[in-house]
Amino acid sequence: MVDSKPAQRLDVLIVGAGFAGLYMLHKARSLGLTARVIEAASGVGGTWFHNRYPGARVDVQSMEYSFQFSEELQQEWHWTERYAAQPELLRYANHVADRFALRDGIQLDTRVSAAAFDETAQRWQVRSDSGEAWSARFLVMASGPLSTPNTPAFKGLESFNGPVLHTARWPQEPVDFSGQRVAVVGTGSSAIQAIPLIAQQARELTVFQRTASYAVPAHNGPLDPVYEAKVKADYPGFRARNKLMRLGFGCEQPMNPVSALSVSPEVREAEFEARWRIGGFGLLGAFDDLMLDERANALAAEFVRGKIRQTVRDPNTAALLSPKQTIGCKRLCVDTGYYETYNRPNVQLVDVSEYPIDEITPTGLTTHGRDYAFDAIVLATGFDAMTGTLMRLDLRGRGGLPIQQKWHAGPLNYLGLMFAGFPNLFNVAGPGSTSAFTSVIQSIEHHVEWIADCIAHLDAQGLATIEATQEAEAAWVAHVNMVAGHTVFLSCNSWYLGANIPGKPRMFMPLAGGFPPYAERCAKVANKGYEGFALAQAVRALSCTSIG
Ligand code: NAP
Repeated sequence: MVDSKPAQRLDVLIVGAGFAGLYMLHKARSLGLTARVIEAASGVGGTWFHNRYPGARVDVQSMEYSFQFSEELQQEWHWTERYAAQPELLRYANHVADRFALRDGIQLDTRVSAAAFDETAQRWQVRSDSGEAWSARFLVMASGPLSTPNTPAFKGLESFNGPVLHTARWPQEPVDFSGQRVAVVGTGSSAIQAIPLIAQQARELTVFQRTASYAVPAHNGPLDPVYEAKVKADYPGFRARNKLMRLGFGCEQPMNPVSALSVSPEVREAEFEARWRIGGFGLLGAFDDLMLDERANALAAEFVRGKIRQTVRDPNTAALLSPKQTIGCKRLCVDTGYYETYNRPNVQLVDVSEYPIDEITPTGLTTHGRDYAFDAIVLATGFDAMTGTLMRLDLRGRGGLPIQQKWHAGPLNYLGLMFAGFPNLFNVAGPGSTSAFTSVIQSIEHHVEWIADCIAHLDAQGLATIEATQEAEAAWVAHVNMVAGHTVFLSCNSWYLGANIPGKPRMFMPLAGGFPPYAERCAKVANKGYEGFALAQAVRALSCTSIG
């Protein structure tokens, strides 16, 4: 370890200044706790700080993808588009930091590299890679489920003469592809947003696709002022209705409580068509068994494949773009002009499903014995999702147990919030929670409020530590797996399963059971005196000095 300065003592140390870290800091301060956010980047915003690629925008409608903890905030903020783009989301994160006077509690350009639970002091001893140290009663990992980019270990990657850009680490200065030959590797959500815009700028764009994705139209546009006024007239009511939805959003287009298999082809087509015209994730709610029954799912999948064939003029390209896996098994993509882009004369699609990319060369790449020349390569190759960030830390629980050992077969957790053997460590929007299947800001608020209530409870009861029991954790992981087993989510290789990262243990990580039952369960656990957790008194008197 690097020599460190004397540790700064805190009640709560928060890792990450995305939406989770910002709200956690605000919440901790409102409880009168000393708290500090440590952020590796040079600005706040997390996901929306890093993912600046062309076309980056949220796939949940702006009026839903925003904080609800402050009525003033939700009334005063005005979104310009139905689906906000990255610059506006980043402005929003900065506005939140200023509005709630959070900046003096956030330390930028500082990467937490190690954290160990000190059983004698009952504190987390945390260090940065530059040797700074903190000693905190509670450690909140607000480091994001999609924060560690996946850069495939392509042979020769370093040898390429031009820029290699990852969508999740896009430069802050604008990138100009005018007149260039550009490669995009990957066809997930990030690629699907970036490709139409890169195609408009580049001289030639070649997309390397391993697995075709399903994309539904966003039908993005300026936010309708009448709609905005309607939502703002009763924002709390709108939020409350969303909280009852399975995804925690989409209350204006609820799940149709009918089986796709029980209606005529005409009725089915009409329902799919109506939802396609509205756009967004609502297509998967057209019938209530689409994510549960592969036969029902196949009907929705074929509907989208039909749309691809109608849109893409070249039948071979349309066939290549038509996914074979169940729809929704990998996260559904929400696009603006993705399939249409393949009608442009400067865009070509190369299938690398059978013959992978062999090598990156100084001038481009090779696959299936053919050389392709490029001026720039864009890797839209996703993330080491849900566990990647924690697994890259020197994070140790009781007895020095490394997280890598605890999670060697998958990310064990209880309620998606805590890990047995790691007392007083809370994880926001991580594995075991429904966050991946919700509007993530809503999940963040739910988690942060649960954590804040938990800390307040400990303090009120004079307790020092809380820790998930091994039994509760094992039962929770079994529950998450059992729920996934009743869905189509296990039928393909997704990041939900860890299947996008070579060598990563396969375990279905998010909870697919819906937000309302999950939130109810979390509340019930707390109401029963934190059932499934061991709560303990201080082993000695604790003191905490304010660092302001
Ligand atoms: P992703 O969905 O994991 O897609 C990565 C793509 O790269 C896939 O097409 C993958 O192919 C391909 N790939 C990976 N390694 C490869 C290799 N060695 N050779 C060829 N292709 C390779 O990642 P993402 O698009 O960044 O999206 C990740 C998640 O972030 C999304 O599911 C979503 O939750 C979130 N996201 C949201 C938005 C939004 O709100 N609008 C935008 C972007 C991302 P395979 O499928 O074959 O593995």
